[in-house]
Amino acid sequence: MPPRNPDVHALLAEYQRQYGQLSQEAIKLIQKYIDEGMNVEAAVQKALTESDFFSHNEKATITAIIASVANGYGQRPVDPITVRQVLLHKSWSPDKMNLSKRLHGVRGEMRQTIIDSISTSMRLGKGWTQTARDLYEGYGYGKKIAQAELPDYMKRLVDQSRKVLAGDRSAMDKYLAAIKQAESQIALLASDGAPTKSLKAAFSELLEATKELNQKALDKAIMVAVEEKSRYLAERIARTEISAAWGDGFLAKHRADDDVIAFRWVLNSRHPRYDICDIHANADLYGLGPGVYPKNKFPKRPAHPHCMCLIEPVYAGEIDIDPRKEAEILNNAKFNPKAMEKFLEKLPRDKQLQLFGEYGLKAWRKGEDWRQYLRLWEGHADTKGRLDPESFVAKSAEPSIIKLRGDYSPAYEAKLLDAAKVLQDNGFIPREHALNRIVGRIAQKRLPDMDSIIAVALNGYTYKTATNSLAKVKNGISVHFNEAGEITTVTPRKNIPDTWEMIEDD
Ligand SMILES: [Zn+2]
Repeated sequence: MPPRNPDVHALLAEYQRQYGQLSQEAIKLIQKYIDEGMNVEAAVQKALTESDFFSHNEKATITAIIASVANGYGQRPVDPITVRQVLLHKSWSPDKMNLSKRLHGVRGEMRQTIIDSISTSMRLGKGWTQTARDLYEGYGYGKKIAQAELPDYMKRLVDQSRKVLAGDRSAMDKYLAAIKQAESQIALLASDGAPTKSLKAAFSELLEATKELNQKALDKAIMVAVEEKSRYLAERIARTEISAAWGDGFLAKHRADDDVIAFRWVLNSRHPRYDICDIHANADLYGLGPGVYPKNKFPKRPAHPHCMCLIEPVYAGEIDIDPRKEAEILNNAKFNPKAMEKFLEKLPRDKQLQLFGEYGLKAWRKGEDWRQYLRLWEGHADTKGRLDPESFVAKSAEPSIIKLRGDYSPAYEAKLLDAAKVLQDNGFIPREHALNRIVGRIAQKRLPDMDSIIAVALNGYTYKTATNSLAKVKNGISVHFNEAGEITTVTPRKNIPDTWEMIEDD
């Protein structure tokens, strides 16, 4: 049995884990280069290039997306090259951006987000340490600062530290203690008029505390820039495209299945607020039940960035209609805008407000068409999806392999047929040559056994070979496929040739 495909949430979690690893590397390098005195822009640029941050991120994204197609379909594609091409270059979204452009476009945005957020932190930090330094130097040497100005300085330091240490409670407490210390020395000074050694010491400590906490805040800012702000952009793509690809796999599997009579919108349980997805899942717009759609009409999904709502097949007998009239009802199922009107009217005002916004709600209330104002409403589209079922099933599925052409001894022929059967049972079609190789090499002990070969065919790493054919490789075995998805040969393999290109990770 092939292992169960991880679901979309597991795929996203794995992607997040990989992004986390990548960001640790980038953060370390950014800190290093800034410490060495490089400006923020150069430091970020160098760190991202050196860690190959974007390529790794893109690879992790694409791996997750291809795995998601397999999850949606229920098995891995036999033609991952085509699937990868389609997912990278064919857009599904209203903005017509394909994944390849999207990934490329986000590079600059991610880089700039990191630069901007670190620069902001540095700028604030500089102002803050400068105030502390002015105070220390101005008071100790040259008396630029009048005594009356001291309370203003203290106030400014507190304000600036609040901005720089934003959210860091313990650092803030520590700093306020240093401020208190200085203030109590200032109070003593006021009563006796001359600067004291302990006042100077208090200002010096304040400056030290400022520098130390500012450094801490900068390190934190670098972390936040890469791990949160930039991550948000990367993850929006990963999440949304995982969801889109899942749908393509799902539709390739279920659209042509006659046992499936309709599709149901399944609301993602982690949906944070009431939006169009709740409508897709709950309104009965075709008379087939809440959230149920005829097989050829379905809301566009993902319905918005980050949407991970799924689809469920509805089988005959699963919806509450007269089974004798099932075919007729399904054939005549038509979108009913009035049903939507009624559904929307029954919703409490706060939900209506979330769906329409203030302006839209007013307009709709005045009698205008809800379709003009319902946020994220994209209508219903055909359910063709981006992928053909052929990408998932071997094309030459006729049992031609049973008719062997070679002239074999009965015992040997039986072995070939056994091997063929095992492969077929696992969804693979071997060429006769491949059967000969398998049986021969197992006999020579150059290949272990059928189970190992099946495991590699199912779960090996996928390579495009120098001749553009496909190979699955793992555990010292490579299984080769032709364009039709048939196994052409199986060989022992210690090393991957340089000319091969890995196209899918596990
Ligand atoms: Zn959704």
